[in-house]
Amino acid sequence: MNRIVLATRNRGKIVELERILGDLGAAMAGLEVAGLEAFPDAPDVPETEPTFEGNALLKARAIAAHTGLPAVADDSGLCVDALNGMPGVLSARWSGRFGDAAASGKDRANLDLVLDQLADVADELRGGHFVCAAALVVPGGAEHVVEGRMHGRIIRAPRGSGGFGYDPVFVPDDDTRTTAELAPDEKDAISHRGRAFRALAELLPDALATARTR
Ligand code: IMP
Repeated sequence: MNRIVLATRNRGKIVELERILGDLGAAMAGLEVAGLEAFPDAPDVPETEPTFEGNALLKARAIAAHTGLPAVADDSGLCVDALNGMPGVLSARWSGRFGDAAASGKDRANLDLVLDQLADVADELRGGHFVCAAALVVPGGAEHVVEGRMHGRIIRAPRGSGGFGYDPVFVPDDDTRTTAELAPDEKDAISHRGRAFRALAELLPDALATARTR
């Protein structure tokens, strides 16, 4: 059984990656995805890089080195055209630093701040996109980073109870619902994270082979 570790303590991301790998079928049979909870001593890696790719690689390299296993890490965020691409890599911390215990309050504070900043921006100028960079690092083997995007626009008031983060104010292109109003599989099909993880999953068989031959 091949084991890879997903460099996150977010159970939702682990379930999402397992679902995407499962959809890819036989090539992924026998692959076990472990979360960081299986490695309690794993380091917390601060996201200090200025790009999504840089942060994803930083985390995947650190966790591959710590566990000796192939590691997958992602970094994601919302880029708003009228804010020159911000919050970007600062999406999770846009309204300041909060403890983990305040996760839902933090999401709401971040979203309210972006809505305030866009208050005077006309509807036709409220475009933006989500980005997800997904990195795979095989100890002593291959390194890959791929990126997925979802384009859309920022509405004026939150709608919907699904998803997380900025989902209640983001309407993807070709839809009228926010991503907080989509079913999970509908969001996966078009989301930045779904696209990035699917692209990375296709690279996995060859990448894992680089570990076995060295
Ligand atoms: P991270 O990738 O866990 O560092 O998350 C970055 C931040 O970007 C999250 O805290 C959210 O605020 C935002 N974000 C990333 N992906 C999504 C998404 O799919 N929906 C809504 N917000 C997101």
